[in-house]
Amino acid sequence: MRIQLLPSTFDSHGHATPEQRLTCFLIDERVAVDAGSIALALSGEQREQVRDIIVTHPHMDHIASLPIFIDDLFPTLKSPVRIYATPEVISSLERDIFNWNVYPRFSELKNDFGPVMEYVPIHVGQDFKAAHLTITAVAVNHIVPTVGLLVSDGKTTVAFSSDTSETEEFWEIVNRAPSLQALLIEASFPDSMAQLAEVSRHFTPASLKRELSKLHHNGLDILAVHIKPAYRETIIQELESLQIPQLGVMESGKIYEW
Ligand SMILES: [Zn+2]
Ligand SMILES: [Zn+2]
Repeated sequence: MRIQLLPSTFDSHGHATPEQRLTCFLIDERVAVDAGSIALALSGEQREQVRDIIVTHPHMDHIASLPIFIDDLFPTLKSPVRIYATPEVISSLERDIFNWNVYPRFSELKNDFGPVMEYVPIHVGQDFKAAHLTITAVAVNHIVPTVGLLVSDGKTTVAFSSDTSETEEFWEIVNRAPSLQALLIEASFPDSMAQLAEVSRHFTPASLKRELSKLHHNGLDILAVHIKPAYRETIIQELESLQIPQLGVMESGKIYEW
């Protein structure tokens, strides 16, 4: 399985910068988990292949350029872009984003070939298929209904939880997986901001360390994501000082393979 955290910003020469401002993971060039930077950072070839997008929750950093992605493809789509999300998240997207005010309601629009966007409701605890992947969504602990994901291609299994704080169900599902090659998990704020992290339901390096004691798999790669750019250096230092083997920081733009 190949996973890339898409870049969010670019310097004045057009080169991707390492900070993560938006969230969008591209799996095997075909499936996106969240869509923050989807319209900004896909190659032309990737743009033609991605038709399956899983939206974990409707916070702007996770959906910012989703409307632009669909708009961009609108005239040429021969099959709809499928948005996989829980019914709560679908309602929020329809009410708050695709509401004819912020942006057109693409779920009701067709081009010359047919519908351009369709929702695929997903339910926590029930497996679903997206392209070649089998995925289980699990509710995590964030300030709006949000899911973490266990993603398998039949050979490799990777667990994702971007925005969350302390939770139990995610770890139960992760620990039940027969094997796990990688865990992508958030570390949003530095330890000095533990209080803000708690009220906004995010981790700091210290609270992530406590949470990782719930993980029973060994030897997998653990990559920290969703590091707030304003505190990036401090958070990275704090993560390094935890001395957790195989815990690293996911680099945007890099393709990881498991
Ligand atoms: Zn969030
Ligand atoms: Zn977020």
